[in-house]
Order: sequence, then C-alpha cells, then structure tokens
Amino acid sequence: MSETTGQNEGLPTLSASAEQVFPTLTPEQIARVAPHGRVRSVRSGEILVSAGDQPKSFFVVTSGSIELVRRSEDADLVIRVLRPGQFTGETNMLSGRQALVTLRIGEPGEVIEVKRDVLLDLVKTDSELSDIFMRAFIFRRLELITRGFGDVVLIGSNFCKATLRVKEFLTRNGHPYAFVDLDTDSGVQELLDRFHVSQADVPVLICRQKIVLRNPSNEEIADCLGFNETIDQGRPRDLLIIGAGPAGLAAAVYGASEGLNVLVLESEAPGGQAGSSSKIENYLGFPTGISGQDLASRALIQAEKFGAELMIAKGARRLACEKKPYAIEIDGGPRISARTVVIATGARYRKLRVENLERFEGAGIYYGATPIEAQLCRDEEVVVVGGGNSAGQAAVFLAQTAKRVHVLVRAPGLAQSMSRYLVRRIEDNPAIELLTKTEIVALEGDTRLERVSWRDNETGAVTTHDIRHVFSMTGADPSTAWLQGCLALDGKGFIKTGTDLTAEDLAAARWPLPRPPRLLETSLPGVFAAGDVRGGNVKRVASAVGEGSIAITFVHEALQG
Ligand SMILES: Cc1cc2nc3c(=O)[nH]c(=O)nc-3n(C[C@H](O)[C@H](O)[C@H](O)COP(=O)(O)OP(=O)(O)OC[C@H]3O[C@@H](n4cnc5c(N)ncnc54)[C@H](O)[C@@H]3O)c2cc1C
Repeated sequence: MSETTGQNEGLPTLSASAEQVFPTLTPEQIARVAPHGRVRSVRSGEILVSAGDQPKSFFVVTSGSIELVRRSEDADLVIRVLRPGQFTGETNMLSGRQALVTLRIGEPGEVIEVKRDVLLDLVKTDSELSDIFMRAFIFRRLELITRGFGDVVLIGSNFCKATLRVKEFLTRNGHPYAFVDLDTDSGVQELLDRFHVSQADVPVLICRQKIVLRNPSNEEIADCLGFNETIDQGRPRDLLIIGAGPAGLAAAVYGASEGLNVLVLESEAPGGQAGSSSKIENYLGFPTGISGQDLASRALIQAEKFGAELMIAKGARRLACEKKPYAIEIDGGPRISARTVVIATGARYRKLRVENLERFEGAGIYYGATPIEAQLCRDEEVVVVGGGNSAGQAAVFLAQTAKRVHVLVRAPGLAQSMSRYLVRRIEDNPAIELLTKTEIVALEGDTRLERVSWRDNETGAVTTHDIRHVFSMTGADPSTAWLQGCLALDGKGFIKTGTDLTAEDLAAARWPLPRPPRLLETSLPGVFAAGDVRGGNVKRVASAVGEGSIAITFVHEALQG
C-alpha cells in the first residue's frame, strides 16, 4: 500500500530552519520559564504524554532528553530527540486538542513542567518567549502535516465530492492526515477488506488507528478527533461569536487580546468564504497575495494564543433572545449563554446548479470580477451569469479587456433587475452580447474549465463553446435563517444595525434603552453584527476584518452596562 500525505495549505508555507522548529532556549530564557513551572526528575522510558491525550503540560528539558515518538502496531518511530534547552509542544498546546505524538524520556534527567493554562498566560505577557514558542509550534504542526504524521487515514477518490469535503475539512482545521487514493493505489482493497468496508462506503476515515467512519459528516470527524473536547459548554461567556470567517476571527483576536472570555462557534471550518479563495490580492499588507486558507489559519492561531476558544462543526441553531444573558442553542449540544454576542455568519454566494462547478471554482469559475480576473481573461471570451447590478458592472468592466462578454440571464430581460444606466451600457457595448432565457447546462475541462454549454430555454437548443472563464454573479444569501425573528432584518434578510434601524424597527423589536443602537449593534442591545451578514456591508475580506475588530469596542461598552 502506498500513501500520499495530506496537504499543508492551511498553514504558513515559510521554509524553516531546524533552529526555528526546535530552538534551544538560552539559560536566561529558561530562567524566565522556570518560576511558572516545577522542576521534575524523569527516568528513562517514562511517558510524559501519550498520543491521544489532551496536552495538560508543556516541558522544557534541563538535563537528559525527551523523545518524540510515533507509535504504531509494528514499531515505535522516534521522530526527534529534544536536548537541554529545547521544549515540547505544537499548536495543540493552544487549541487543547489531542497530542499527535508521544513524549517519552530518553536519557534520564530533569524537566521543567509548566501547566498549559500557565503557559497560555506566559505567552500573553512575555513577547520574546511568545515569538519563540509560537513560531516553533506553527512549524512543528506544518511538519506533521507535510509528513502526514496525524492520527487519520483517509481513503477516497479525488473525483468524489464527499472525499473532497473531508479533505477540505481536515485541511482547514490544520489537521494532518494520510490519503490513500482509490484511483491509483492497487493495495487498497486489502486495506478495505481488513476493515470490512465496501467501496460504496467511501470516503472512509480511519480515526486514531481504530475507529472506522464511513462517509462521515464533519461533525462526526470533529467528535472523533476530539476537536471540541476541552471546551466547557456550561460556562457563561463575556462574548460569543457566531461564525469563524474573517469577521468572526477578527472579533475573536481583538476580544480575547483585550481580556474577554471568548467562545467562537463555527458550523463548518474556520475561514468562511475567504477560506475558499485561492489568493486574496487586495488585503492590506500582502503585496503578493495570501490564500484565504493561510490567512484564516494564521488568524485562528492568533485568536487561540490570546485564549479564545473555537467550537468546530457546531452551528448556532437559535438565538434565545427573550432574556439576558442571551443563550445560543447549538447543533446537538446544550445552550451556551453569553453577555454579548457578535454575529458573523456571513453570506453564501448563490451557486450555479450545474455539475462539476466546485471542481472549476478558482480554475475558470469566479465570484468576483477584479483586475486580477480581468487580466486572466484578457483577449478571451467570458461568460457573466446574472441579471443584477453586480453582473452588469462585471460585464461592463470585463468588456474593457476581454474579447467578448456573453451575459446569460434566465429572465426575458434585464429591466426588472438591473439599473437603467447599466442596461444602456450593456446594450451600447458591441463587445457584450446579452442572452436572455438562457442558462448554463454543462462545464467541461481537465484541470481547468475549457468548455461551457448553455441552453436557450425558448428553443431548447444547447450549444457548446470553447470558453474558459465564467463569472457567477447571481447574488448572495445571508446566513440569518437561524435567527428566527429575533433581530430586525432588511428586505434581503441581512441584519440591520446602528442608524439603519428605523424607529419602527426599534418599536417592533421593543428596544428597551433610552440610547439608540450603537454602530454595528442590532435591534437587540449587546448583540452585534459584523461582516457580510450585516446589511450595507461591503463584501470584502478587509471590511469583514475591520467590522469584526471595531465591534469589540462596542462589546466593551455593552459589558459595562
Ligand atoms: C471564491 C471567493 C473569493 C473571494 N475573493 C475575495 C478577494 O479576493 N478579496 C476580498 O476582499 N474578498 C473576497 N471574497 C469575499 C470575502 O471572502 C467575504 O467578503 C468575507 O469572507 C466575508 O467574511 P465574513 O466573516 O463576514 O463571512 P464568511 O466568510 O461568509 O464567514 C462566515 C462563517 O460563518 C459560518 N456560519 C454560518 N452560519 C453559521 C451558524 N448558524 N453557526 C455557526 N457558524 C455559522 C460559516 O460556516 C462561515 O465560516 C471572496 C469570496 C469568495 C466566495
């Protein structure tokens, strides 16, 4: 059986020297750690932490050695030996998730044992040690991912949607896995037989070497890997953030760094829509661009460093808004109460109902038309799908560089859905062709989109075109259905905040205070909305991050009464 290892897209892809991954603390730095822990004598062969345990302590070697061991049925593999001045830990020290390697004493000696919560306080106050630990933790996790040194084996096919979902879930959570490809691996049948799994059950996930999950949901995977095990769901929070896209993660970083007790609930995996962007080129400070995945995993580590907790694959089902503290009912769990809430559940771009769509997202299917996409399709034919203003703007913009722009709408015309000025520009532009009562029925290509077929719904005729770029501009739906009438929404279902709330909205919501709602505050005092879910928000990563950050100022005011 051959194995290919999991991807590492979720973490910074800097090349690290051995000294950055396994640095040696100076005597002066060790002396700063020592008062936070206790010195412990250790004997050869002693197990400090077993793979699968939650990380309760962090260790610095002062004499002797600690071995990092990967255990298997066949043999133990020592992947690293830590010498005096070196320390244990990777990103699971921050998240509290189970250890992926066993820590065993090699040569006897002494270690300094620091409890995890004490370490978390130390990294908040000692910036030099924080930099050293944080960098090493991140690079170590990256190395585990690159080498596939996890506790998960995924068996599936790259042509299977569910396999891709599971891969994305593990990657977005920065969890290492080994992938066995059913399409190329001849020895796989033996493995499937060993676990009594039929090919129809794929993808199969072997979790912690023993539990076999057949086509598991994200929630089942999170449960099996203990992603949420350390979170005390009964503890009331200062701030509950719903959604871990850019807005929610920004709120978590600012809230936790300013001393609030923060819990983030995420129904899928961290990153939100931005997590699916292969390269964000317009976010301040990243002149060569950054993948959404990379941005999200850095933000997550930053939030966890400050003590924010994140519940994965647990969505908010209902906001119990009748009394304070507010409570959120979550998927398959108890209610979580909080004094303030930031809703950052974003929006979902409406997707074309056509096979292969996900395969070509970022490789010919786009949800925004910026100069980057315009460059990609210079002098080529493109399709813009949609009859709203965003589609109209995209068509006019792309017509400046593309050879021809085909605008496809299912409606008989644009008059009902697009501003008059845009309709005129489209009509007057010889490079734009408007096709009404028309829809895409097929997408084809190998590694990227190469052909598009569309149907004229009046005649039924289907035609196929060598077009490599489709802009899907059919609007976005806010993720607000779960609010069930608790908050005032605008006509499209986005959350109204601040001065957008009219006197009628506030009267209907029984706004109880003499002051008006603050910026980003909803019709419920102490409940804020940030990012794409908020009515009037500019749908960009930077504005989501900005709103998530400034919401914390108002959260503080609300907590003060
Ligand atoms: C393919 C693509 C490319 C893009 N490229 C760019 C770009 O280059 N530059 C740019 O500036 N913008 C880009 N955008 C837009 C940008 O990604 C969004 O504006 C931004 O992600 C919005 O952030 P957010 O946190 O408000 O919401 P989202 O990113 O939508 O995150 C919301 C999160 O909330 C979670 N959630 C939803 N409901 C619940 C619930 N009930 N309980 C718990 N969690 C819930 C979701 O799973 C999600 O993780 C792109 C968008 C897409 C789709």
